[in-house]
Amino acid sequence: DRQETISVQACIEYALRLFHSRLRDDAIHVVHQWPEETLWVEGDLVRLEQVLVNLIGNAVQAMKEVEAPVLTLSAQIDDAHIVISVADNGPGIATDHLGHIFEPFFTTKAPGSGLGLGLSISSRIMEDLGGKLQARNLVDGGACFTVTLPRSPAPS
Ligand code: ADP
Ligand code: MG
Repeated sequence: DRQETISVQACIEYALRLFHSRLRDDAIHVVHQWPEETLWVEGDLVRLEQVLVNLIGNAVQAMKEVEAPVLTLSAQIDDAHIVISVADNGPGIATDHLGHIFEPFFTTKAPGSGLGLGLSISSRIMEDLGGKLQARNLVDGGACFTVTLPRSPAPS
């Protein structure tokens, strides 16, 4: 594994860039909420990016039928941690499914459109990076996935 000090904001931007045309075609409004100061984490940039790509991909798919889709990407500091959130205003996760979405091959998508591996792989990656991945539904509808990582000092 590569170990490097990564800017969380840069990592989010990289992941988002892959969805550039999809976001435009689906008229998804992207809201960024993060502090001006750069937030640093230690780890493998490619793997954190893969987690964010999985989460953004799920959010985009979940908002397919939404009239005014909004993708909210935020980063916050919580004492020694950095919390990155990917939130959408889709239908949210059915209560019955909340306990199963991180299981390998669990999917509610039509055959061929989802293997059900994204979240299980992502949560495994987060554990390897010393962090965790959690899911919840938002009060106003939609799902919110949070990635929690230990915060690192700025690279010298
Ligand atoms: P896949 O995307 O291939 O179905 P994932 O592991 O990425 O596999 O997700 C598993 C399941 O979790 C999805 O099929 C869906 O039911 C649920 N899920 C994931 N993200 C969202 C979201 N943003 N909104 C609603 N449901 C979601
Ligand atoms: Mg997925």
